[in-house]
Amino acid sequence: MKVVILGIDGATLDILGPWAERGGLPNLARVLEGGAHGKLRSTIPPYSAQAWVSMMTGKSPARHGVVDFFEQDANRTFRGYASSTLISGEAIWDTLGRHSRRVGIVNVPLTYPPLPVNGYMVSGFMTPKGRDDYTYPRELREEILGVTGEYDPDPWDPLTPAKDLGSFVHWLDIAERAARYLEEKHPADLNISVIQVLDQLQHLFWDALANQEARTEPQMRKAWPLIQRCYETMDAAIGYRLDRLAEGTILLLVSDHGFQAVNTWFNANRWLADQGFLRFSEGQVGRTKSTLARIGLSRESIKALIRRVDRFGLRRHVGRLTRATISRKLGETLAVPIDWPQTVAYSGTRTSEGIYINLKGREPHGIVEPGDEYEEARTRIMESLSALVDPSTGQPVVSAVYRREDVHSGEHLGLMPDIFFSLDDKPYLVSDSTTTTRVFDPIPKDYVQGRHHSQGLFAAFGTHIAAGGKVENANIVDIAPTVLYAMDLPIPTDMDGRVLKEAFTEEYVQAHPIRYEEPVVGGRKGAPPTVEYTEREQEAMQRRLKGLGYVS
Ligand SMILES: [Zn+2]
Repeated sequence: MKVVILGIDGATLDILGPWAERGGLPNLARVLEGGAHGKLRSTIPPYSAQAWVSMMTGKSPARHGVVDFFEQDANRTFRGYASSTLISGEAIWDTLGRHSRRVGIVNVPLTYPPLPVNGYMVSGFMTPKGRDDYTYPRELREEILGVTGEYDPDPWDPLTPAKDLGSFVHWLDIAERAARYLEEKHPADLNISVIQVLDQLQHLFWDALANQEARTEPQMRKAWPLIQRCYETMDAAIGYRLDRLAEGTILLLVSDHGFQAVNTWFNANRWLADQGFLRFSEGQVGRTKSTLARIGLSRESIKALIRRVDRFGLRRHVGRLTRATISRKLGETLAVPIDWPQTVAYSGTRTSEGIYINLKGREPHGIVEPGDEYEEARTRIMESLSALVDPSTGQPVVSAVYRREDVHSGEHLGLMPDIFFSLDDKPYLVSDSTTTTRVFDPIPKDYVQGRHHSQGLFAAFGTHIAAGGKVENANIVDIAPTVLYAMDLPIPTDMDGRVLKEAFTEEYVQAHPIRYEEPVVGGRKGAPPTVEYTEREQEAMQRRLKGLGYVS
């Protein structure tokens, strides 16, 4: 069989299900009714970088090596942004190429720099701004431009206010035109294309998406029709693929994670400090305070000033890069350094949703002895975190707490936080801020309204797919082995996922026992070198992630 995958970043049945039932997304409804579907559990934590790579490799992040948006050394030194060169072992396009199958990969996050494949690859989300080497083979870029006139593999700036939603529609159309052209012009056995825009829209406009009344509020009057248009374009993309679905081909709809409402910062470092696990450096606080007092500003009033500048669009006058630089410099000035010799644990990045123990021999200023002392500290923090209640609601803050080795395994486990926690169905976004004085802070509505949820979407439709089939307990690492199974190929034994057999008809499963093969280890032939970023590119990337609420 051949396989067509339409990835829909952040797609959740919570929004799409009712919308399809009301008749607004007829093609999605066809897939849900005529195929097999269910929820798809994302990685822990459910962020796009690690999740998409897990989907494409069938491996846990600790095994494939992309554990966050940021690339870091074992001693937590920031080295750059995550890219395709970090992926250890085979991804599905490598496995298929080895079996002489052709692939067409368009707009999958974390595929910059594009990898040499048996077919073609066009990079997606996290391609540095302004680069022109985002296609494999290189000359494919000219071919795309010949069809669409312009192309940007990662066009959105989520810091753009609602009035620029027109650009969301514009770039979504261009990406879809390019994907259709390539699919038709260069046939492949596996086609993957990803619609990225839903993720951005759901971060920014969750309230209106989840609640019909919010759509008619004055500030949404112009925005809502454009948001609706993006969802309808997504549905048309499903329809286009359904209409062209040949006998012996299946269509998969997949998302890297779901979505949910968010309205409160959970400032993990402040919480750790209040619990006695972290100490802020007093001398530094004093100095910062007095400097600010001299110029008549408190830390909070400067932050408020930055927010006001944002809201009134004054940044147009100062220029975006300048503004990014100013706010970063301010952030550095305001940051209260951590007193490492007095600190047992600290918060990971926002997108790692975890806590690191300040372990001796591993952390630059580690104080916790490995062994019993480490385990004891970890247990105490996990117990405190499980018991943490938001005083304003009386409800627990986290929905689960994990030891990293209980939920991940692989050679890159050492890069991960020692403790992970889940915020599923809770209204919090974790922050690693060292400047705030409160554990909980409200998140302004015009900043972000939505956050990832662990339950995404899986749907399959076409030849040998069980009509009306229910798929339960599907995990994001199951996609790659399921695709190989549908293509009647053996599954490398280093994949963590299982075949979602329940999506197929009984006759197909009877006739096709699952086969396995030895994994291929070692480097990729002709792999591109590690990506070096200019300062300008780093600033643009930081702004990109900032707009999603991923960095401060
Ligand atoms: Zn995503």
